[in-house]
Amino acid sequence: MALKKTIDVQAAVAIAAAEAIAAKTQGTFGVGGLMLDQHGNVLQSLHNNVIKQGLIFDPTAHGERQLIDWYYAERAKGRDLPPPADITIVTTLDPCCMCSGAILAGGFNVVVAAPDREAGIDHDVSAGFGALPPALRAQAASTFSYPAILGASPYARAASGATPKSFFIGKTISEPTQALCALVFEATSDEVMRLFQTDPPVEQLLDPAMLAPDHPIARTLKQVYPDALTYRCAPLAPDAGLAPFLLRAMARDREHGGDGDAVALLDSFGNLLLCMPGRMAQSGIRSAFMEATRAYAQLRYKLMAGATPERQLEVRRYLGHPKDGTLVFARGPDAGAVSFMNLGAYGSTMEGPLPPDNPRQFQYVLPAIAQQELDAICAAMPPLYSDIIRIHPTQVADRALIDALTRG
Ligand SMILES: [Zn+2]
Repeated sequence: MALKKTIDVQAAVAIAAAEAIAAKTQGTFGVGGLMLDQHGNVLQSLHNNVIKQGLIFDPTAHGERQLIDWYYAERAKGRDLPPPADITIVTTLDPCCMCSGAILAGGFNVVVAAPDREAGIDHDVSAGFGALPPALRAQAASTFSYPAILGASPYARAASGATPKSFFIGKTISEPTQALCALVFEATSDEVMRLFQTDPPVEQLLDPAMLAPDHPIARTLKQVYPDALTYRCAPLAPDAGLAPFLLRAMARDREHGGDGDAVALLDSFGNLLLCMPGRMAQSGIRSAFMEATRAYAQLRYKLMAGATPERQLEVRRYLGHPKDGTLVFARGPDAGAVSFMNLGAYGSTMEGPLPPDNPRQFQYVLPAIAQQELDAICAAMPPLYSDIIRIHPTQVADRALIDALTRG
């Protein structure tokens, strides 16, 4: 593969900006990025892929997250890549909480162009990283770089955060390139957020348990998760009947190199749609929640892409948006980077306010930290997560379910 080499932050950001324009052309969030080795060789460049063909393709397909999974996939194939501490990700937009958690979990460096005051980890442009759990702030301060923008326009800024790696000779971004990074994102964000709000309201949803087993929606759902629709609880109230499904996925998560997490998605009727383990041995950021939210989004995408509007509506009514159901984590979030990534990816799955009649959308069975500490982590997150979505994980109410997982 012919590699480009860049030793100027400006040149690297210009490549990322071209990717961001390609993302806008695709109709997704206008964000792009690239990954450089310790000499400035471009290992990979790509852009956001949350939206394809006007449909949610993968809510976790942000540039940085995809670059990190690409890195681990290449290493798994035997490619000799430098360790994450020698790798620099360059991105047009301040990383969201999911991507920041992924960057910190892997131990990568990042160079950031435009700010994101809603969802960026440096949303208050202080480089203090108060949006992160306290134990992660020092690592971010030494690996997240916000280069200087020289000039007198509103895009100008002093450098903050970490110093970019020493192979960079030029360490500044030009005003027009910074403006391009900011504008291409601003030009897309409202429309993409709107695409997250096009599903029918909960009262128009249909029960997939009523579908004939050979209906394409039921068949495709069972292909993703063979046990789908074999468990049902009272709406929004998971009980001990869910335990065997979680325990099986937790065992698989351990086989796949994880610590025994699993995440189930129940629909608004209480049907089990899927329950996923992580694949942490393949990539240090393929947690159970990442796998679960991606599997469900891609199931819906597969059924809707290229289909008639009538068929798309049928899919949306039988397989509603996750916000109207319940996500059940076997293990509650802790104060570490992977959990922070999960909280961010949860935000990227919702992208808008949770329904007021479903305040317990995010439930966990086994607590990792005290509820008070978890509440403080969520309250410190940038405005998209804390003010708009109001992420609020709570423990399941059913004591028998907690006891079943505690016994393991
Ligand atoms: Zn992101």
